[in-house]
Amino acid sequence: MTDNHAHMQQGDPIVDAVGRLVNGVFGGDRATRARTAAILLCAVMYAICCSAAFYAADLGVIKPFAPRLLLATSLPAYALFYMLVRTGKTKQLKDPTLMLPQNMFALLAIAFAYTAVGPHDRGIVLVLIALVMVFGMYTHTPKQAVAVGTGAMVLLGLSMALLSRYDPVYYPSDLELLRFELMLGTVPSMIYCAYQISSWRNRLSAQRSDLKIALEQVQQLATRDALTGLYNRRFMQERLEDSVKRFDRYGERFTVVLIDLDHFKRVNDQHGHRVGDEALRAFASAAGIALRDTDTIARWGGEEFICLLPNTSTHKAVIALERLRQALSHCQVSETVPALRVKFSAGVADHATVSTLAHTLERADRAMYQAKNEGRDRSAIALRDKN
Ligand code: GH3
Ligand code: MG
Ligand code: MG
Repeated sequence: MTDNHAHMQQGDPIVDAVGRLVNGVFGGDRATRARTAAILLCAVMYAICCSAAFYAADLGVIKPFAPRLLLATSLPAYALFYMLVRTGKTKQLKDPTLMLPQNMFALLAIAFAYTAVGPHDRGIVLVLIALVMVFGMYTHTPKQAVAVGTGAMVLLGLSMALLSRYDPVYYPSDLELLRFELMLGTVPSMIYCAYQISSWRNRLSAQRSDLKIALEQVQQLATRDALTGLYNRRFMQERLEDSVKRFDRYGERFTVVLIDLDHFKRVNDQHGHRVGDEALRAFASAAGIALRDTDTIARWGGEEFICLLPNTSTHKAVIALERLRQALSHCQVSETVPALRVKFSAGVADHATVSTLAHTLERADRAMYQAKNEGRDRSAIALRDKN
């Protein structure tokens, strides 16, 4: 397994070259790749249509200007679409695949093709309207889907009316009317389908973002303490258990600090529960700032907190605690009691020999009581077990 993995990481030159080529043509990120793939797929379809049109011109089914016009317009149009999408210039747009401009171009091309095909064969061209609408279903808003379908009907309807009026030989009015009726009998139901699918897509994506928000809220509720915003006991318990496993497997040491606020009952009794809550929050935010990003602090219960400091000696932990003590000595807890300061006693225990989590927590707890007994507002380090 690992050999294989190392081999893959080192890279096969051919696989690498293909990877670079794919990245170069389609783009580096997934979204851009999907968009350029869609553009290139359409470009290939235009190429096939162009070659069919040249063939049709050879057969005399279509006027000779038509394939040349199609090639001369679709080539630059798709080169432009590809460049804009591939370079990521359309990323910020609501329609990053440029599906709406692509649809407009397609409708114009269909209308022109319709005028160019001979009197008896031009009905085939109308089938392409369905293709345009199917492509749009996956990106358009419901309104855009309706606009594209209606636009197609109006554009072709107008072409039929005008052409049969000005050139009734090449565009016999009875045949044009027949095709208009056929279009009227099919395109509206496609518009309806496109509208439905776009609406479902909209609703699904709205539901998905609602679910995402709900999931974040549930995660927040399950792992955080409501009063202080710190992690809760359950979350910390899991973290600690993970740390013990990491120590058992990789020997990664960690230090646990149990913190209990000093004379907190007195704060409540003298200034009220609300000021007590303010003090808890003040402690939480000061501790969040004083500790490193890799450290985790949680509310263990009441006015007790617990810190998990990975790869940290007890000595370093005590230095961090002194930093926190300093910060708290300058930190105003409550506007109603400006002089009130939060003080705490801490018990520090390292998990540096094979032992249970419960035992390490017990050592930290005993050290914390030792700090209380020695006069509070200080830290005490738990002795290692003699074995
Ligand atoms: P010591 O220095 O020995 O720790 O004294 P202490 O008064 O802090 O000890 P004790 O454990 O007797 O008191 C803890 C107090 O913390 C009692 C309780 O009312 C208060 N407390 C616990 N949770 C909260 C809370 O969420 N909000 C407030 N305001 N007070 C709380
Ligand atoms: Mg307590
Ligand atoms: Mg206390």
